[in-house]
This record gives sequence, structure tokens and C-alpha cells, in this order.
Amino acid sequence: FNDIEKFDPEIAEAIRLEIGRQKSHIELIASENLVSNAVMAAMGSPLTNKYAEGYPGSRYYGGCEYVDIAENLAIDRVKKLFGCEYANVQPHSGAQANMAAFYAIVSPGDSVLGMSLAHGGHLSHGSKVNISGKYFHSFTYGVNEDGYIDYDEVLRLAKECKPKLIVCGASAYAREIDFKRFREIADETGAYLMADIAHVAGLVAGGVHMSPIPYAHVTTSTTHKTLRGPRGGMILSSAENAEKFNFNKAVFPGIQGGPLMHVIAAKAVCFKEALQDDFKVYAQDVVKNASALADGLIQRGFEIFSGGTDNHLMLVDLRNLGVTGKDCEKMLDEANITCNKNSIPNDTTPASITSGIRLGTPAVTTRGMKEKEMDIIAEAIHILVNDHANKNRAIQLVKDITDKYPLGY
Ligand code: PLP
Repeated sequence: FNDIEKFDPEIAEAIRLEIGRQKSHIELIASENLVSNAVMAAMGSPLTNKYAEGYPGSRYYGGCEYVDIAENLAIDRVKKLFGCEYANVQPHSGAQANMAAFYAIVSPGDSVLGMSLAHGGHLSHGSKVNISGKYFHSFTYGVNEDGYIDYDEVLRLAKECKPKLIVCGASAYAREIDFKRFREIADETGAYLMADIAHVAGLVAGGVHMSPIPYAHVTTSTTHKTLRGPRGGMILSSAENAEKFNFNKAVFPGIQGGPLMHVIAAKAVCFKEALQDDFKVYAQDVVKNASALADGLIQRGFEIFSGGTDNHLMLVDLRNLGVTGKDCEKMLDEANITCNKNSIPNDTTPASITSGIRLGTPAVTTRGMKEKEMDIIAEAIHILVNDHANKNRAIQLVKDITDKYPLGY
């Protein structure tokens, strides 16, 4: 950091301010987490200097013998972590992993069926503004009035639109996803199944969410959400499907050039951390904390879409309170609570305003907070939204817990 300060004080200042923000704020963005110093050190290592197009043992550049060690460790560890036979740790992000999986399995014009963005799916699952919805003929399923995926409806849609690929996995779905049922639907309709576990990867690794590995033809993920690693993506599958679809070739040279070896080394560190016993406790605590936060909010008059949560996140439906998601995000920010506005399925307000917020517990759990603190956070949110004149009390509640659970940097 001293080197940055000496040469580039403007960037040093931006970093310093961001570190201060992370320390003083309660982070409730469901897709964010706080990495360990070891993960961060690997990301900031000289491995960033190395070009290594290709795969371990078969590169297009010389001098790859040591980055090969790092990539092989990442591959071996993630295979052990998820109990799968094949892993590609090179995708630069979750969207890149999904693009590579699409590139390997479907051809332009083929039909795909994924969860609608408006109901909690991700852009890269066939949204019309994304390449996945422009180059492929995309159809979508959503959730029912209770907020759950209606598997019979997914089956009906799959029979109707005959997709070559069904995509499951979501960015804003608070309930457990039944990968087994999705595979049955895929088998019944002659489709392949892709599971994108970007959000719940840490919960799957920690044993508190069903694993897609026995069911999906391919599993994609990010490494930076509940899994608590560096920003990045990965692809997992059986050895048979890896060969059949050639995911390696789809990633490189298909959609990427040189892999980010410093990030791959950081992924390896993250996978080692997730293989430790205490990561299981972390995953359990993330889920317990999300339940406690949802309960605390429900007790204070908030409506949680679908009535609660099975995982690390929840959608707060603000329609009964007459507050928009956009305004609520701002109100919470006034007391250093960070979240994101989020559409509620069948929302009638524009996506730039929304009727809801999405809250998640991966980062606060990493900080060591437990159910008691979740209740305090629910109280602070209640004050900010329903009793704004008492805003200073919410600010104090947040300060007390951020001081009590400091960050390690
Ligand atoms: N898949 C899902 C389900 C996600 O929620 C996200 C990110 O929010 C992604 C993929 C994309 O990941 P990235 O932002 O790393 O491209």
C-alpha cells in the first residue's frame, strides 16, 4: 500500500476511503463477502505477471511450471470440495463461466429455458439484454404467488418450448433449489441441465444446501459470494461430460485468452479454507443469521417475500409500507447499512425504483456476527424505515456492532 501512496496518492485515497467504508458499514448485499488476508495476498502477488494460455502441462508460453502448481492445486481442491471429477478454474467471472457453458452445450438459435431475471434469475441465463438471450432462443420460468419455483410449471414449459438446455440457479431466490427435480424435468424433456450455484456455492460446500453435482450436466459458479474467495468463476462436471462438451476448449480458446494466475492462486487458497471444518460452521451460521434477520424483520412488521428464507438471502417486500426499494436503500445507507434495491416478482414499479430490497448475511457472518446482532440490525432497519425521526439511534446501533466486530485490515 505504501508503494501506491508514494506513486499514486489519488488511487491510494480511493482505496483508503473504501477500506473505511467496509469497516464502518454493515454489508448486507447478498452477493458480497469479505475475503481473508491470505486470499487477498494471493491476488496481489507477482503471479499477475504471468501469461499462461492453455492448461497445466500444456501451455502456449514458457515459464509456466510454477503457475501450473497453483492451477493444479486449485483444480484438485475444488474437485474435493464439491465431490466432482472435473473442474475448470479459469473463467474470469460467473458470467464468463456461464457463457462458456452455453458455448459448449448449445448453438446459436437453440432454445434454452432459464429463470426470469424479474423473478430472481441472472442476466446470463437467457435475458434479452444479454448475449445468452440474443444468440439463443430463450424462454423463462418464474416463481408462483407463494414465491417458490413451481416445478410442475417448469415441466409444462419445458414440454412446450423443448429447450436443449435448462438453466437453474438464481441471484435473488430465497428458497432451496431442488436440483434433483430439475434433472428429472430435463430427462423427461430431452434437455441438458446447467446449475448455476454462484450464490449458494458456499452453502453447498458447507453442506447446508443440496448439491447439484449428482444431477446437473454442468455446474457453474462464482467464487466470491458465499464461497468467500476472489472475484471469479468456475465450471464443474463429471469427467464424462467434460469430455463430451469439452468445457476446457469452450473457456480457452473459446471465450477467453490468458487466465488470471494470481486470481487462480487466490481461488486455490479459498478452496483450502472452504475444506476446513470451520467453513461448515460458517455456512451454518450464514443460514441461521439469515433466518434470524428475516424473523426480526417479520416481528417488526416487514413482509418477507415467500415468508422467509432457506439460504443466505431474503427479499423484503416493501409494498405494505409504502416505501420503494430505491428510497429504502438510501434510508439504510444513512445509518451505514448497505443493501440493494431489488424487484419483487411481478413488481409493477420500474427496475430502477423497485418495491423491494435484497438482504444477505454472508459478509456479516464472516465478521463474526450472530443471531443477536441480526436482531439489532432488524431493529436499526425498522427505525430507519418506520421511525425515521429516531435515525440517530439506528446510527448508534450500527456503530456499536461494527466497532465490536472489526475487520482484519
Ligand atoms: N450467476 C448468478 C446466479 C449470479 O448471481 C451472478 C452475479 O451476480 C453471476 C452469475 C455473474 O457473476 P459475475 O458478476 O462474476 O459475472
